[in-house]
Amino acid sequence: MQQVNKKRICIIGAGIAGLTAAALLSKKGYLVTVYEKEPVLGGRALSVSADSLTKMEYTRLLSDYHSFIAFSNPDLQTIIDQRLLDGYLLDLGYHAIGGGVLSNLNEVLKKFDEHVDFLESYVGFIDEEGYQFPFLSKMDKLKILPNILRLLFASEKTLKKLDDVSITETIKRYGKGNMKLILEIFSRSITTVNNLDRVSTGEMFRAQRNLYRGSKPVGYPKGGLGVIHEKLSDIIKTYGGSIRLNTAVDRININQGKAVSVRIEDDVVFYDYIIYSGLLQSLFNYSDESAFPKSYVRTIKNLTGTGSLSGYYSLSDVPNELIGKTFHFIERNAGVDGNDAVGMIDFMAAAPEASISPSQEKLVQAYIICTPEEAKQKKVLQRLRQILDKNLARLIPDYDQKLNWALYPSVWHLDGVAKTIDNSKPSIETPIQNLYVIGDGVKAMGIGFNCALNSARLLANQF
Ligand SMILES: Cc1cc2nc3c(=O)[nH]c(=O)nc-3n(C[C@H](O)[C@H](O)[C@H](O)COP(=O)(O)OP(=O)(O)OC[C@H]3O[C@@H](n4cnc5c(N)ncnc54)[C@H](O)[C@@H]3O)c2cc1C
Repeated sequence: MQQVNKKRICIIGAGIAGLTAAALLSKKGYLVTVYEKEPVLGGRALSVSADSLTKMEYTRLLSDYHSFIAFSNPDLQTIIDQRLLDGYLLDLGYHAIGGGVLSNLNEVLKKFDEHVDFLESYVGFIDEEGYQFPFLSKMDKLKILPNILRLLFASEKTLKKLDDVSITETIKRYGKGNMKLILEIFSRSITTVNNLDRVSTGEMFRAQRNLYRGSKPVGYPKGGLGVIHEKLSDIIKTYGGSIRLNTAVDRININQGKAVSVRIEDDVVFYDYIIYSGLLQSLFNYSDESAFPKSYVRTIKNLTGTGSLSGYYSLSDVPNELIGKTFHFIERNAGVDGNDAVGMIDFMAAAPEASISPSQEKLVQAYIICTPEEAKQKKVLQRLRQILDKNLARLIPDYDQKLNWALYPSVWHLDGVAKTIDNSKPSIETPIQNLYVIGDGVKAMGIGFNCALNSARLLANQF
């Protein structure tokens, strides 16, 4: 393949940001090497084959990504010993990608004549009587659409003004009837933050707008998240880049305000550019903080992430009318920051085309939002587990009769940095020459997966 530009680029991390940046920069002719400390691609958007996974391997992998199995049914050792996970591809926790088929991902893959097939869903709403699907009826849409549209398609100038306005304020202004419920639910689920005093109206509507680029708001790749990483990895190799798994970068060396090399075990390797895609708050574990302005160090260290408790339920059977559908719920007075907690119960993975579970078993994925601190507190997690189970029971009253196993992973770095009023996300440039940061911790369009991917696109556009 063409190698017109011989500048050498080191990318730290093979998550979605690192892999996307590597693919785009390799195509531009740079000599790219991606270093990943873990034995697998994908970072937090991780799919692992659970076949012959030992308890130790599983718990170690989870702990490397700030996660642990808070509960399971039966206990994890029994699940592993009885090989109940054979035939499953498990993510770190429940993932749904905003924008589905026409997502930001496929916009990138199109540049390489590639494509990932998605399952997609509208979003329904679980209430005490059962559920509504989709959430908004045509009548609802007619009533609330003018207000929503005004905000959704507001100019960037207006959205910037709304960046410092909390959703609580916006609800006071626009939140009547169903519009209030929509703002309460979508702003929480989009940002993975329950406390609406912290959620930024501008960021919420930008992210919401990004979701509407797809034909349906949420999607999940057929064959699991791993399909995405394998595709990007193949592209990188085709364009002459390389990926080194199990290889941690121990140090980013900075000389007179310029990033010059990385240390890997005892070797020092020189690069023209160094791109860090690990957790932003950990940047100074790998670099000398005294080389950065104090205000930058303070900002980065004070950034906070988001957390959640997921539920993976393997069921022997799921009612046909639920398969492929995704639902929101809101639990009032859940005893969490923000008082009410929002979550999702998702049957996209239960569709046979998802191909991430044995054909005779159905995987139902769910999650409920909490703060990173709450994700470590057993008592809060117990309550959140009850809420997940209760909402699944509203959809499938006898689900426990059909249960093969259940896992409840808790995570305290779901998003690297929450899109909230109190977190001012940094841009991809750093105060250090030739050092860039990408990932879901930096300022880029979308949330989570899309933010990480779009930060890589921003970077590639600069090169
Ligand atoms: C349980 C869970 C559920 C989620 N659900 C959703 C969802 O539904 N929708 C959504 O959009 N997003 C979701 N997310 C968020 C999404 O997974 C992340 O936003 C996205 O994967 C971040 O990608 P990234 O490339 O920025 O970072 P990461 O995926 O964290 O990748 C960084 C990589 O860098 C590696 N690394 C770090 N330091 C070094 C070093 N020194 N040397 C070498 N390698 C290093 C790490 O091992 C890692 O693989 C979820 C996350 C989790 C954990």
